[in-house]
Amino acid sequence: ETIMEVTRWTVHIEVRLKLRASARFDTIRNLVHNFIASSERLALPCTLDGWEEVPELASSVEKITVCESLCTESSLSMEEMNIQIHVYKPSDGDAFEEFSNSSGNVNDDDDTMAASLCELPNRSHEGLWDSLIYADDIKMKLLDYIHATLVFSDANVDFNLVSWNRVVLLHGPPGTGKTSLCRALAQKLSIRLSHRYSHARLLEINSHSLFSKWFSESGKLVQRLFTSITELVEEEDGFVVVLIDEVESLTAARVGAMAGTEPSDGLRVVNALLTQLDKLKHRKNVLIMATSNLVKAIDSAFVDRADILQYVDLPSREAIYEILRSCLCEIIAKGIVLPVSVPTLKQVQIYELVNKPAGRSDDVQDRSKNVGLRLLALASACRVQGMSGRALRRLPVLALARYIGIGGIVHTTHQAGEPPRERQGALVE
Ligand code: ADP
Repeated sequence: ETIMEVTRWTVHIEVRLKLRASARFDTIRNLVHNFIASSERLALPCTLDGWEEVPELASSVEKITVCESLCTESSLSMEEMNIQIHVYKPSDGDAFEEFSNSSGNVNDDDDTMAASLCELPNRSHEGLWDSLIYADDIKMKLLDYIHATLVFSDANVDFNLVSWNRVVLLHGPPGTGKTSLCRALAQKLSIRLSHRYSHARLLEINSHSLFSKWFSESGKLVQRLFTSITELVEEEDGFVVVLIDEVESLTAARVGAMAGTEPSDGLRVVNALLTQLDKLKHRKNVLIMATSNLVKAIDSAFVDRADILQYVDLPSREAIYEILRSCLCEIIAKGIVLPVSVPTLKQVQIYELVNKPAGRSDDVQDRSKNVGLRLLALASACRVQGMSGRALRRLPVLALARYIGIGGIVHTTHQAGEPPRERQGALVE
């Protein structure tokens, strides 16, 4: 008897429930499992459809996503997959709580927000993960890191022999999506870890406002913040992600103090911060993520604590194409630009290799090819300029403004839920 060895790829399926869904998560999980098992192959990655035919799913489910995996195949058969289904119901956007700087003193006029707390998964972070596009697989790499720490934690590996700090530091030019990536990763984790933790929270610390006042005040604030964090982390069935944005503004204080330009209070604050971080590394249910635009300005004691020091670069030409493509598809979907199918990156790369532009044509395919090639040329131009993801995402507004400026838009009658009756095309140039 021969035993066939089959490599099984782990494929994560995320099932988002409607706000008012009342069905039990495991009921939904079983129904989704049966639904998937009844199909032959699954495209990777994709948004699943057809499940609306199952009444229980139709009444509770909003969206089913087959997530990207390490497998490079565009589809897999049931035998090739190890399916993991994650059912979740995101909290509503405005469940935020703030820690203010004023320690409850009404007379204090410096009432800046030092941190905010939100429940995860959160509706306001939906779609963020997919909207972030990177050439090298940063997103998967970060997820794999978390997974690795979980394997070690579960096995109770002796911390004296193998240790890590649960700190990830993302650095790179402004506008490259570092803060968004931290939020997206927190959201992803809360969905993927929902079978282990009954809830998850994201605490965002605003480094600037933490140090907006006197360092002596900041010391107390850091202390209070970490007291709160410790309280959060003590609930062992909850997962906590702490995001420290622009961490250089926090830790530069120590460098300043050493050079004698800042009061020694600054030094104490940073030391307090580092000590608190060290205490957290023994907790299984916490992850610290920090971002910085200037890694050189960060205290080396902090940088040393990062398990992963990830450089986030300006987008490559290919990533720019994908970003611009997602912009264009969105404004087509919302009826602002005449419909045209925008080629995927793979398609346009083939066009670029084998084809010349099709010239002016009414043929649907020719139009699509032309749009793709023009978008690719635009991507090259943006790359030369060294544009950030943030700058790219505002290009459509600027392009439309210019088009309106030269009299391009006449009038659009567009009521919500109805296709626009009279549309004017404004292809981005
Ligand atoms: P940073 O923290 O690096 O300054 P942000 O997270 O504030 O950057 O990014 C701002 C916005 O720019 C993001 O929400 C996103 O819309 C866009 N953006 C930046 N980088 C990318 C990218 N690589 N892919 C897609 N969008 C991006």
